[in-house]
Amino acid sequence: MNNYLSMRNELLAQKVIKGLESRNMTGHYAADRAEAKRIALSLIPEGASVTMGGATSAMEIGLVDAVKSGSYVFLDRSVGDPREALLRGYGADVFLSGANAITEDGVIVNIDGNANRVSYIAQGPRKVIMIVGMNKVCSDVDAAMKRARSVAAPTNAMRFPISTPCKKTGACMNCKSPDTICCQFLITRFSKHADRIHVILVNDELGF
Ligand code: SF4
Repeated sequence: MNNYLSMRNELLAQKVIKGLESRNMTGHYAADRAEAKRIALSLIPEGASVTMGGATSAMEIGLVDAVKSGSYVFLDRSVGDPREALLRGYGADVFLSGANAITEDGVIVNIDGNANRVSYIAQGPRKVIMIVGMNKVCSDVDAAMKRARSVAAPTNAMRFPISTPCKKTGACMNCKSPDTICCQFLITRFSKHADRIHVILVNDELGF
């Protein structure tokens, strides 16, 4: 990434961080993926139980591998009875997540199918760490919803063996297909609990 873009991203990130702080959330800026991983790991105490949603961005910066091989208790939702694994996750110390979009004044937008991700963000795990590339920053909530629905969701749908119109066309058709992954929309505009939601803005393109 060239210097001009990095400088622009840093200024924009500072604006988002101010917005997050006004909403009782904590923002961090990472100049690159390695710094993002370092910041995230500094927020996770040794021995903490950690779970994750479909955190593509956390995987892309190597955070998920670092947690799995580190001194933490990784709660793998794909192991064992799905309902028991889901309920175990609510008691986790840390939830690793991405975001579908974030506004310049710190509102976070996420769309979910099974709703484990949006429900864990809303309540449950003691701390939520979101890894968010600067490609997710949008001017306002309308633009963030548009991004989440027309960019993030159709791209996400491509990853699953499901039958939805967007898988064929690449565009959201506002479907009510039984396979839809757009069941619950979460707009996080404020956190009741200080030090619970941390957003690490990364000077890079991450996720979708
Ligand atoms: S077509 Fe359906 S599953 Fe695909 S993005 Fe739109 S609402 Fe979601």
